[in-house]
Amino acid sequence: MCQSFTGLIVQSKQMSNDSVVLTVVSKEVGRTTIFAYSGRKRFTGAISILCYSNFEVSQTRDNKQYSSYTLKNVDLIRNFFDYGKEIEKHFVAYHIAKILDSLVPSAEPMEEEAFRVTMNTLHFLTVRGSNAEHLKCVFELRFLCEIGMRPNLVACRGCGEYSKNMYFSFSGSDLICQNCIGQGERDAFPVSPPLLYAIRFIALSDMEKLFQHTFNDNILKPLSRFTEQYLVYKTDMDLRCVKF
Ligand SMILES: [Zn+2]
Repeated sequence: MCQSFTGLIVQSKQMSNDSVVLTVVSKEVGRTTIFAYSGRKRFTGAISILCYSNFEVSQTRDNKQYSSYTLKNVDLIRNFFDYGKEIEKHFVAYHIAKILDSLVPSAEPMEEEAFRVTMNTLHFLTVRGSNAEHLKCVFELRFLCEIGMRPNLVACRGCGEYSKNMYFSFSGSDLICQNCIGQGERDAFPVSPPLLYAIRFIALSDMEKLFQHTFNDNILKPLSRFTEQYLVYKTDMDLRCVKF
């Protein structure tokens, strides 16, 4: 039986001369596999990594853990892989694809807001003049928030202090102030008030405002180190490909 859904290709691997296996993340079906037999000629232009397409498919496998499909037809809606000479944007887009491939669960619909932050980040990457490192920070932190890994950013876990120089504890996923920090907190990340403002803004602001505020380089560099470390701590991902 044929069905259709829209999704973003996060991996495209050649199986044979002309056949391709795709990993797609979709709001409707989560992360899934689509086999495109004789695909390179028939579906050229719509089955590359970072293509957002409408897939018409037939199901080849279905169980509680995993579904896979055979591609019948595909219509490209938009691609997110062409950034010209803006190489950093290219790296960030591939980095996003890798995160999605690792963290989107299969056989269940994708979280609505996780999907939204994905598509919005990819859209803003295409906007001329947008800052790739800023968008990388926003995606790394906010995507984790939307899949259930939002850190506790309200106040120090010990005394309730919320505005002075603080530390972020990766093991506790929360804040500790200078007075309360103990010797056991070896992974604590120093967080100045403006850096804490930026982290709170990304983790907690409305999606409509999320991309409207950028940060200067003094904040962006430590913010980038923070979001990378948070991602690695939560997921064990290898981020060697996306250093700025
Ligand atoms: Zn405290």
